[in-house]
Amino acid sequence: MKIDIHTHIIPENLPRWSEKFGYGGFIHLEHHKPCCARMMKDDEFFREIQSNCWDPATRIEECNHSHVDVQVISTIPVMFNYWARPDDCLDISRFLNDHIAEVVERYPKKFIGLGTIPMQSAELAIREMERCKKLGLAGIQIGTNINDINLNEPRFFPIYQAAEALGMAIFVHPWNMMGAKQMSKYWLPWLVGMPAETNRAICSIIFGGVFERFPKLRFAFAHGGGSFPANLGRIERGFDVRPDLTAIDNAISPRKYLGHFYVDSLMHDELFLKYVIDLLGEDKVCLGTDYPFPLGESVPGEEIDRLKLSKKSKDKLLYQNALNWLNLDKKNFLVK
Ligand SMILES: [Zn+2]
Repeated sequence: MKIDIHTHIIPENLPRWSEKFGYGGFIHLEHHKPCCARMMKDDEFFREIQSNCWDPATRIEECNHSHVDVQVISTIPVMFNYWARPDDCLDISRFLNDHIAEVVERYPKKFIGLGTIPMQSAELAIREMERCKKLGLAGIQIGTNINDINLNEPRFFPIYQAAEALGMAIFVHPWNMMGAKQMSKYWLPWLVGMPAETNRAICSIIFGGVFERFPKLRFAFAHGGGSFPANLGRIERGFDVRPDLTAIDNAISPRKYLGHFYVDSLMHDELFLKYVIDLLGEDKVCLGTDYPFPLGESVPGEEIDRLKLSKKSKDKLLYQNALNWLNLDKKNFLVK
């Protein structure tokens, strides 16, 4: 069995939110062939997408081909819209979450849903998360920063508290990359910025004591934890030599949190994947491919296969850890 915890989905048709709300910056789709659409941010081209981005039947066909049994579906981070007016972001989140819930309801054995919530307002975020729970979604996806504010800020604590109480898993995905404006060439926001963003999120959560305050929260981080695993030695050294700067909100060493959170397996590097499994534990790495985007793993599970693990270890990475993170049972997804 294979569960892919990192895949993105978008409705086939999006409202023109800029017209509805009276200001720009929102994504809309321009379909130019039955198979294809351009994601546009106002008049600016963002990304070309194909029908596997919106059509569940196409996705299932591709999953059958690549032997993926279940996809965990979440929105594309550019749809977070945390920068928008909170009520407008809530409106968009509801639209996207209704779509995800609909897909899950239609194909309950093929898809597990993660919602998106207006993180810029704790009150609205909690309200929408409660609705996501009622819609049958297993968790939420949030950004690595919220309009440049780090995830350790107390303003987010009520949201974490609610997620913990509701039993919602949290998937943290890079977006709004630091330094993007200074490195727009060579796709560096994706290649350098994204791994740094995920490192930023994990460090903020550790140093800010979020794991201490909300011990039952089940976090998973995209792209193998970004640059955090490679940077851990430096982070730990910093913690040891400058506690006056690092241990101000949490006196526990960053290394103690290894094994406390999940990451996906999307590293495109067998040696590094092996290192991360050794570092975090084979119970904490889950298959994740970033389907259907080109920077993802095109043959889901290929890297995991290459490690030649025992069946027991491989099963953990391919689906069991995903089920544990999401607090779901395998029997709900086995299809004859
Ligand atoms: Zn992604």
